[in-house]
Amino acid sequence: MGVREDFGALYGEAPDGVWAAPGRVNLIGEHTDYNDGFVMPFALPHRATAAVSRRTDGVLRLHSADMAGGVVELALDALEPESDRTWTAYPAGVVWALREAGHAVTGADIHLSSTVPTGAGLSSSAALEVVVALALDELYGLGLPRAQLARLCQRAENAYVGAPTGIMDQTASACCEQGHALFLDTRDLSHRQIPFDLAAEGLRLLVVDTQVKHAHSGGEYGKRRAGCEKGAALLGVDALRDVPHDTLDADLARLGDDEEVVRLVRHVVTENHRVERVVDLLRAGETRAIGPVLTEGHASLRDDFRVSCPELDLTVETANAAGALGARMTGGGFGGSAIVLAEATDTDTITKAVGEAFTAAGYTAPRVFEAVPSAGAQRLS
Ligand code: ADP
Ligand code: MG
Repeated sequence: MGVREDFGALYGEAPDGVWAAPGRVNLIGEHTDYNDGFVMPFALPHRATAAVSRRTDGVLRLHSADMAGGVVELALDALEPESDRTWTAYPAGVVWALREAGHAVTGADIHLSSTVPTGAGLSSSAALEVVVALALDELYGLGLPRAQLARLCQRAENAYVGAPTGIMDQTASACCEQGHALFLDTRDLSHRQIPFDLAAEGLRLLVVDTQVKHAHSGGEYGKRRAGCEKGAALLGVDALRDVPHDTLDADLARLGDDEEVVRLVRHVVTENHRVERVVDLLRAGETRAIGPVLTEGHASLRDDFRVSCPELDLTVETANAAGALGARMTGGGFGGSAIVLAEATDTDTITKAVGEAFTAAGYTAPRVFEAVPSAGAQRLS
């Protein structure tokens, strides 16, 4: 059954409408978002779907086909930031953020279902937030621009759920277009659609989900972030985004002998530059030429930012040795997924080689799937 039918069975009547919002993969631009820099995600075909009806009595009812348990009923006036440690915090947080921003949302019945794998770094949480935000925006006639919906979803995740995430995931889910990647400036949220139609060029992009999550990721993230802020302060700029690439060596020399800060700054500045190079190559129709830039990005995350792990390094190394055009870890690191760009005709060989390398190393077999640049959030019916 689809979400429309499930909604009817749960709530006793047909929903007012059905919406969808995708997960995302970041093509290039890692650990740049909290440095006011550039990112370049694209939407996956995997998406969250929501059947939703308005209510006028201050009640929010929530259900997910993917979670155990029945319908959860909440009173809008009782929504309290960081009070909910379960999945309902994501949709409830969106309702809370809309009301906090002064929008008269008076309740809803919501039934969700998602094909975005959770915890693989593909942003199942943003898909959930954005699908709810878009549904409520339309049902309540709010007419909010997509970028603003993304901001409200980020506020829901930061303030209500209590997870300190950037703006990329929600913007990707809300704003991406099919056959395109989204060039996003996280400083002012301006964005441009960049043609990225892999199938038309005989290419494929694989996501290799290593299914590992190394436990120390939270603290390590905080350390990197603090190191970037220190680098910006030492260089006298608001954010590392403001350090120009062409005079980088001179700026690194000014940082003195703080080797860690030098590495962090070098990654962020070169990574921003890599995003710009990928944009230029894609706009020039040179899609294959982005491969080496992706691999260069991986080396920078591995050696300078030091957020990779053996499973991700093995994926990149093996894929490239098996004929990929380029590969890199994607997402925050310490596990999660890698992406591999390859000729469509080579992907079977590459997938097999990566699987065999994981077996030989004694790792759990990775999950591999194709990432087709897909549409952003939309109404389905
Ligand atoms: P991700 O990288 O996938 O976004 P997060 O930890 O940020 O990982 O978000 C995952 C959380 O989002 C899940 O633990 C769950 O609370 C919520 N979530 C994701 N998909 C669903 C779903 N289909 N139904 C209910 N909750 C979901
Ligand atoms: Mg998330």
